Amino acid sequence: MANLIKTMIQTRHVTRRMTTAPRKILVTSALPYANGSIHLGHLVEYIQTDIWVRFQKMQGNSCHYVCADDTHGTPIMLRAEKEGITPEQLIARVWQEHYDDFKAFHVNFDHYGSTNSAETREFANTIYNRLKAGDLIAKRSIEQYYDPVKEMFLPDRFIKGECPKCHAKDQYGDNCEVCGAAYTTSEVINPYSAVSGAKPVMKASDHYFFKLSAPSCQKFLQEWTTGQLTKEPPLQSEAANKMQEWLGTEGDNKLTDWDISRDAPYFGFEIPDAPGKYFYVWLDAPVGYMGSFKKLCNEKGINFDDYWKQGSDAELYHFIGKDILYFHALFWPAMLQHAGFRTPTKLFAHGFLTVNGEKMSKSRGTFITASSYVEHIKNTEYLRYYYAAKLNGTMEDLDLSLDDFVAKVNSDLIGKYINIASRTAGFISKKFDGRLAAKEGITDARASELMASFVNASSLIAQCYEDRDFGKAIREIMRLADLANEYVNDKAPWVLTKQEGQEAALQEACTVSLNLFRLLTLYLKPILPVLAKEVEHFLNIDALTWTKAGELLFKHRINEYKHLMTRIDPKSITALIESNQESLQAAAEPSPARHAEAQQHAIAPIAETISIDDFSKIDLRVARIVNAEHVEGAEKLLKLTLDIGEEKPRTVFAGIKSAYDPEKLKGRMTVMVANLAPRKMKFGMSEGMVLAASGETPGLFILSPDEGAQPGMRIK
Ligand SMILES: [Zn+2]
Repeated sequence: MANLIKTMIQTRHVTRRMTTAPRKILVTSALPYANGSIHLGHLVEYIQTDIWVRFQKMQGNSCHYVCADDTHGTPIMLRAEKEGITPEQLIARVWQEHYDDFKAFHVNFDHYGSTNSAETREFANTIYNRLKAGDLIAKRSIEQYYDPVKEMFLPDRFIKGECPKCHAKDQYGDNCEVCGAAYTTSEVINPYSAVSGAKPVMKASDHYFFKLSAPSCQKFLQEWTTGQLTKEPPLQSEAANKMQEWLGTEGDNKLTDWDISRDAPYFGFEIPDAPGKYFYVWLDAPVGYMGSFKKLCNEKGINFDDYWKQGSDAELYHFIGKDILYFHALFWPAMLQHAGFRTPTKLFAHGFLTVNGEKMSKSRGTFITASSYVEHIKNTEYLRYYYAAKLNGTMEDLDLSLDDFVAKVNSDLIGKYINIASRTAGFISKKFDGRLAAKEGITDARASELMASFVNASSLIAQCYEDRDFGKAIREIMRLADLANEYVNDKAPWVLTKQEGQEAALQEACTVSLNLFRLLTLYLKPILPVLAKEVEHFLNIDALTWTKAGELLFKHRINEYKHLMTRIDPKSITALIESNQESLQAAAEPSPARHAEAQQHAIAPIAETISIDDFSKIDLRVARIVNAEHVEGAEKLLKLTLDIGEEKPRTVFAGIKSAYDPEKLKGRMTVMVANLAPRKMKFGMSEGMVLAASGETPGLFILSPDEGAQPGMRIK
């Protein structure tokens, strides 16, 4: 009884320190676009948010986590058309895929909706009507490129043409991927529609603008972004600095009015008083946060206004990638403020994911989809743990180093954490009928101190979670795990069990170890919810919560220990990479860009079918590049001297100057067309042609035969 009281006192002490009144919190993650699969880059944000939400719930706070698929816009419309289905069919299918992926990674939304909902439409209309009533909507005629074949206005990303700066061909309408220049679509040389290939024409149309340049908007955003209107600044400091750049200073405002309408045909919400005009996808996307939450309110009887009315005491947090700060830190709060809704408490922006130190790449197989991870690695808590270890609450990019991933998961989770239970639990089951020692059985001062220090760590670890510095939380948890392992090693229960008269010492050592294991599990639970649940079953305890950290287990009966987690086999990583390389060849997946109205990846159409006889007319030979040099006065050509085993080498002029340094070509083997009629060129006679690959993306790639091929060998 005395033990119980002491334990309770400890508990109450912790309770008082940890919590005040329960907070009312609404949390969102950015809405994934319904035009592609969830990949490991997306998952950084959903895992980060989910860990934070689970932590808040474990603290006893009222915390709702909502998200939705972002379903509107031109890319959705065109993709559905290409697949021969309706946009509604497309977004329903993608919704299910996204939902399943999130579930597999234990991202536990309270509601996962769609922006194509009655609720979102209603809020979009309300916001628009209120902005209009406040004289913040303007109608202006603007000229824009129009595709006369497809009969639609073309977003910038659907215009292609020659870069006005470096003259690279097939560049997007707003920037050049070769030289990096940014420009307007009207500057593009020889523009064409990426949808139909037609030459676009300029056409005027009425557009609706949110008047962000209005003095009331500018003043509000200056004050809001610098934290003058809220108890705490709503932006991370690096984000706040960026906003000042974008906003300009008073008297030198840089923010211009925002075009919120698009012309039909468009998949989206028609603007209430403007037939044939639709809300731009970026207007209704964040409104989807409200729409999805409204659905949850309807299901659960939550009062929507408690969370969204102006002056609400509920907290509202948006987790986003740093690429969409502009929309969330400027447009969104301005819309809410001037439509009579509350603004976000804070925006939590994170950085981008790199894999093995580089941008995710389809050709390297590091563009890994959520579903292929599940297929090959299976246990998704490994990734949750690794991401958590790398997340620190800033906008820094984070790297998934695949070797480090395997090493860290195996050494931290299996080698340190699971090891504590796997080395001690069996003795309790076998020798003590599953019963832990009584409190009086803990005679070792070191053991009591160790347990107390583990309980006391709860507030530091809680603060790390609250600050989204999960990396720091894990460092602290692993420091404790090291102490626990030292204790187990020093006590060596596997030795005690063989010694006469050491039963009490054995039961004590295992009881202390399992209490330490319980506390480590509590601290890891926001990150490893499934594993924690299995541990709760094994320890035969109620769901772990922060407030009950100090309730140590004595005279308590545990269940038999079953294997909790296995090591990652590095071979599964190799298979994962290979499968992502293969899937690229199998199906050209559309662009994953979340909100870029990006053109879907497409290869040039396959040419007309030919017979084998047609093909055999072309005499392809392996050639050695004996010499390569610049040609004076030629912009694109290199002069190549090619040996194909004939008496005299051939001269060929090849248009590969932009891609190759002639010095590096010397001595290389390549492939040439040997029976092409010689062609007289300005710089001399060209006696054949070398083969090179090129596509929609920049770059030119000459071919090489495999090692061992000799000059003159025929290719057939
Ligand atoms: Zn360029």
